Amino acid sequence: MTITDLFDLSFLHRRHHEALEFDGCTFTFGELDARANRMAHALLARGFESGDRLAIQLPNSLALIDLYLACTRTGVIFVPVNVLYKEREVSHILDDSTPRLFVTDATELQAEAERQPVTRPSITLDGDSPAGIIYTSGTTGTSKGAVLSHNNFIANATNLLTCWQITAADRLLLALPLFHIHGLGNGLHCWLASGCRMRLLERFDYQTAAAEFLDFRPTLFFGVPAIYVRMLEFPPEIASNMRLFVSGSAPLPPDILKQFRDRFGHTILERYGMTETFMNLSNPYAGERRPGSVGLPLPGVSARIVDDGGHESDTGELYLKGPNVFSGYWRREDATRAAFVDGWFRTGDLAARSPDGYYTLCGRRSDLIISGGFNIYPREIEEFLMEQPEVAEAAVAGVPDRVRGEVPAAWIVPSGASFDAGLLESRCRDALASFKVPRVFHEVPALPRNALGKVQKHLLPNK
Ligand code: AMP
Repeated sequence: MTITDLFDLSFLHRRHHEALEFDGCTFTFGELDARANRMAHALLARGFESGDRLAIQLPNSLALIDLYLACTRTGVIFVPVNVLYKEREVSHILDDSTPRLFVTDATELQAEAERQPVTRPSITLDGDSPAGIIYTSGTTGTSKGAVLSHNNFIANATNLLTCWQITAADRLLLALPLFHIHGLGNGLHCWLASGCRMRLLERFDYQTAAAEFLDFRPTLFFGVPAIYVRMLEFPPEIASNMRLFVSGSAPLPPDILKQFRDRFGHTILERYGMTETFMNLSNPYAGERRPGSVGLPLPGVSARIVDDGGHESDTGELYLKGPNVFSGYWRREDATRAAFVDGWFRTGDLAARSPDGYYTLCGRRSDLIISGGFNIYPREIEEFLMEQPEVAEAAVAGVPDRVRGEVPAAWIVPSGASFDAGLLESRCRDALASFKVPRVFHEVPALPRNALGKVQKHLLPNK
């Protein structure tokens, strides 16, 4: 079985139902099915074969959905690229995944698709076939492509439908980017597997989002904490038809959960997932949604907490196993070997388990920064900063931010007498996605280092 078979519950059995609202237009499942078939033929006509990669850097759009579905129907591996990524970040992904084609504008492909037959191309695929390669983050060292199979996609979608009781009666308002596992795995997959109706927004614009809620009257919404912080200013009526608000990708502060409940009468359901695994842990739909906790393992998911000595413990690194867990990193056997211990995936997240089985995340093994749901590996920014002539040493770490949770800040040891922070910032802006640009540049005479020379980030001034 492939993800196409799962989606066919909607495409074949709900053909005449309205499926998607985007940019003022509405499409039925039958119409989307036909578009996807045509696009699949357009890829085949361009010489694509199963296992070829198609890299796509497009904002949320009908074309992105067409291309994604065409990939799943032809065995072409979907490689989404963050739309905020600049040349330096994009070239790493292209060099690594070696796609047959990189799409930043789908106009030509769409014109070709219109001339193609509407029938489904007959291609036999196994559930273990790779469906997507999703890049975790960064451009050097840590940026790896997680290879996710059709079976991984299916396991996640069916779990979420069951656990969050998503049905064709739902109305999903989706404002998360489809290039990220959150928008793709939770948003797009739950929509197509359940056959519900979705209004897709290009992004969450807090100036217009309240009006979208009032107009569409969704029952289901997926957000990151930065979105929920903004929503605290929305009128309570936005939740009038709502069944479930879900949060993830970054820690949801208990205080925000409480303020949200007071204002909208809904307890946001917090869950935990990652690119390599889709969703793993979730607060229960029916039971207690515990503030600050990411809940319990989803059905089929096994979780262990392991201490530094590799022994089972109540606090330590979280290890996972399950049908949702990826098979490895694209062409990175070394990284794949390091990521698994006896078949368990090492998440790199530190967690604690309560006596009644709820998990709470305590931090990260690495010093990953999560800003508004986007992952930032400090090393990538540090490396870029250290390429600048006026920088002798650089350290980057996350500092608290009310809206985005964390934002990156930089500590610079200048190579000369001083440095121009404005100039450094503008160079960062040219080379890096905007969410990675340090919000502040501190000048320091030296970086605090331990005996092994490793920078002790917790000792940085104003951290
Ligand atoms: P990504 O691969 O971009 O989805 O990022 C995955 C990382 O996001 C995880 O390893 C966690 O560190 C973090 N994360 C995801 N969900 C949560 C959550 N509910 N609370 C805290 N951190 C989270």
